[in-house]
Amino acid sequence: MARSLDHKLAQHLLQEKPHRLKVPALPEDLASQLGELVDARRRPEVLGRLVQTLRPSQVDIAGFLGPHVAKAVSLGSTTPRGPPQLRGVEVAPLPGQGRSLLATRDLARGSICIQEQPIARVAMHGEEALGEETRLALQLWAADRAGLADLARDLLDHGGRDPQALRSRAVIAACSALCIPSLPASELGEAVEATFAWLGRVRINAVAVTTLAESESGELKSTKLALALYPNLARSVNHSCAPNAMLRFDKDTSAVEVVISSPTGVRAGEEVTISYGPTGASHRRSERQQKLQSQYGFDCLCAVCTASEQEDFQWKERAKKLDLRAQEAAGRGAWVEAATASAASLALLRQGYAAGDVEVAREECKLAGISLRAGKPDAARDLWSSAAEVLKPLACATDPDLVEAEEMLRRLPKKPEPTRPAEQAEQAPPPPPKTSPATKGFTAAGTRSDVAAALHRLKHAIDTANVSKDRVSSDATTVTDSFSGAIFGLESLSLSPAEKARVLSAMQGS
Ligand SMILES: [Zn+2]
Repeated sequence: MARSLDHKLAQHLLQEKPHRLKVPALPEDLASQLGELVDARRRPEVLGRLVQTLRPSQVDIAGFLGPHVAKAVSLGSTTPRGPPQLRGVEVAPLPGQGRSLLATRDLARGSICIQEQPIARVAMHGEEALGEETRLALQLWAADRAGLADLARDLLDHGGRDPQALRSRAVIAACSALCIPSLPASELGEAVEATFAWLGRVRINAVAVTTLAESESGELKSTKLALALYPNLARSVNHSCAPNAMLRFDKDTSAVEVVISSPTGVRAGEEVTISYGPTGASHRRSERQQKLQSQYGFDCLCAVCTASEQEDFQWKERAKKLDLRAQEAAGRGAWVEAATASAASLALLRQGYAAGDVEVAREECKLAGISLRAGKPDAARDLWSSAAEVLKPLACATDPDLVEAEEMLRRLPKKPEPTRPAEQAEQAPPPPPKTSPATKGFTAAGTRSDVAAALHRLKHAIDTANVSKDRVSSDATTVTDSFSGAIFGLESLSLSPAEKARVLSAMQGS
């Protein structure tokens, strides 16, 4: 993605990357002062000097950024918001940690403890002229001027100590303020400082609104829809690399919910935490510390980060390799091989992630689909059942994995209930033990589930019976699709007698 105009301008002014703009670069001593703006007391003086330096180029800067800044500030007062709801939690100081979110009663997994509308949000399309942080900061500046952002004013406003980032922030704040339409010259200095502060608050407090969407290859990918600021969330929920809660978004309204994710819940008096990005299972300690320090400016002292033992990530690399092998096998239709590799990968993930982790549930869904195609409906059912148990209290109702798991659990035949010996004796004709509807084929299939099972069997048999693929369209053997299409039996596949015999024997034999 190309850098946004505000960043290009900042780079140009700071001589990091020349760009064909009609604006001269900043003197070196000013640039170095801008890198020290962590000290809030020096801000008015240094930012004042920056504005004086840029003022002669105001027309050129406005020609470059003006329309985009005008658009960003014009949206300032239009963001809808409702009162936040806190349930079973309170915001209270914890020694050495500042504000924390504490449970006031026991909270079970799936409990929603904060529900909040964003005070401001901007869409993330990747093709906007200004970076999303700049657009959100400008929107908040405008909302604050209209008296709508009081709640967010006391949020921390430093986004790390990196001199490079501070310089860019100062230049972006000054250039943006110079472009704000109809801003009296007397208020320019104040606007630069305010925009600089809002950029810092956005950097440290804003949250990416994400949703899961299916990629072209059919994999679920987390997609960023918007950048938003939720004052109550921002002021209260601390980070942990082993969090006991997670964020869930409404993709239409951008409302956020803090949902308890720990399988054992949270006890009264305990702190509710989320991950600001990295977790103990996603990143090594040094990577986590670096990420958290550069974006949020703190050293993580969570239980995982302060634990003395060496962190071992070999399981992750091995799981990744196995997963690639599974994908490769699935790509050429070798479902049994894919299922074996995917199951081995899942076993490693179960070791690495905490019990009940959503990531593991998603992998279970993937393996369930592969197992089904490999002719193992019972294994598939168990996997979807385990995944649904994790996802149901945590994921949105429209979550693609959850929707699929619930749909497949409705369709796949349930395993027969274990019957007590006494009852078995009473029952007149005992069900034939080894003749499932699948082995009987379609003629004996009475219900949709029976048909589904028979189809898995047929698909597997065709895969293993060396049938020329152009005789079998994938539609004819895909069983995860809806049942609205025709159901194909062996007769409709126009197989040669030898192929038919091989498929039949594979169906009986496997
Ligand atoms: Zn940590």
